[in-house]
Amino acid sequence: MSKNLTKRAEDYSKWYNELVVKADLAENSAVRGCMVIKPYGFAIWEKMQAELDRMFKATGHQNAYFPLFVPKSLFEAEEKNAEGFAKECAVVTHYRLQNDPDRPGKLRVDPEAKLEEELVVRPTSEAIIWNTYKGWIQSYRDLPILINQWANVVRWEMRTRLFLRTAEFLWQEGHTAHATEAEAIAETEQMNDIYATFVQNFMAIPVIKGVKTESERFAGAVDTHCIEALMQDGKALQAGTSHFLGQNFAKAFDVKFASKEGTLDYVWATSWGVSTRLMGALIMTHSDDQGLVLPPNLAPIQVVIVPIYKTDEQRDAITAKVETLKAVLEAKGISVKYDNRDTYRPGAKFAQHELQGVPLRIAIGSRDLENGTVELARRDNLTKETVSFEGIEDHIEGLLKTIQEDLFNKALHFRDTHITEVDNFEDFKTILDTKTGFISAHWDGTPETETKIKELTKATIRCIPNDFEPEKGQCVYSGNPSKGRVLFAKAY
Ligand code: AMP
Repeated sequence: MSKNLTKRAEDYSKWYNELVVKADLAENSAVRGCMVIKPYGFAIWEKMQAELDRMFKATGHQNAYFPLFVPKSLFEAEEKNAEGFAKECAVVTHYRLQNDPDRPGKLRVDPEAKLEEELVVRPTSEAIIWNTYKGWIQSYRDLPILINQWANVVRWEMRTRLFLRTAEFLWQEGHTAHATEAEAIAETEQMNDIYATFVQNFMAIPVIKGVKTESERFAGAVDTHCIEALMQDGKALQAGTSHFLGQNFAKAFDVKFASKEGTLDYVWATSWGVSTRLMGALIMTHSDDQGLVLPPNLAPIQVVIVPIYKTDEQRDAITAKVETLKAVLEAKGISVKYDNRDTYRPGAKFAQHELQGVPLRIAIGSRDLENGTVELARRDNLTKETVSFEGIEDHIEGLLKTIQEDLFNKALHFRDTHITEVDNFEDFKTILDTKTGFISAHWDGTPETETKIKELTKATIRCIPNDFEPEKGQCVYSGNPSKGRVLFAKAY
């Protein structure tokens, strides 16, 4: 596995693409914009899934599965949602191939096998799910419905990048139905909070919670809550979204319920999702010029042990010691790999584990056996120490916690030192060209100004932060009155 990554400072985007491939996370496929997630990358995604799934279930949600295809007539029922996604839809028109009479040995679409109604490959599942909920909901006793599905979706994106933006991606989508507006809003906020907790505590990525402006809102939503993270190159990344859908889908699919009071009301809805884009956030937040840096919570292998020996005898003696070490670590729930491949030299193994972001590396040689010590190396700050065998499991357990915290604090420091308050448009542009990061500035509240700023600078309003404080001011672009500061940034 060759190291030699492009440096971040030289070409951040090249560094990212190389890292994803060289660390064996994913690669491009025969289908434009669609990726192959390799076993090591998928193992990290599975860890994210497991923790999120636990959090969803702990808050009363259940998993279910709905079809990949959405009949076009259902897809177009909620007009805003349909209009918002129309340009990115893959559509199935036929259901059969046949031998091509003009090209022996080749196939063509059978013109006789045209579907009566086209099927949209889901870019999101509100339509198919609300058409189903219609049959499940009659009275207040049927509510709430708290369902999540783990699935793939397709959005025909023009400019794609591994994990961050792909044409097909994996995600989870929650779809809930409620008797009251207040309950649906509480659910929307709860799920955004769960995303924030997960991304901060588990992925060690600090996020800002907020609400999207109208032009950045999910198509068909009344309000879109989001968590926004900052990558090392100073660009923001939308890490998760939770939508309050009002009664829009209930009206589009005619989903009414008999209330306790005996009235017939439309049901209130939410939907929320995070995707494999989180893998991109993970890489872009923590990794360095040596390769991937993984927070211990997400590392498929937390500790790798590399034996250093010359003779078979030495190897056997080390292996015997490693077996006991591995057992005590595993008894503490730490995942350990003994890299005893004799096809690679220790140096090559070190390089590979560094590239793949294994949080802790133990090297153990014959002299260590005599001294009762090992060499312990941290991936995050590349420091090494010699530690005694005695009580090593507690030391390692503590160190894994420290690394998790250190990574969060480092990212938090970077994020906090990359939020700049500006009060005029010249400074706004200068910051975007130099320091980058989030810009906290006054905005007059109109989509026109937002569009103009985007045209001129490529920066968008990432969110109106939840801790928005009313503060009278003048819009950074138009000079018109503003009620407070919002967060702008260039974003992925
Ligand atoms: P949305 O349904 O648009 O609110 O998106 C739900 C989640 O999927 C958000 O966290 C988005 O950032 C993420 N997402 C949207 N488009 C893509 C894409 N093309 N590739 C990967 N993730 C995406």
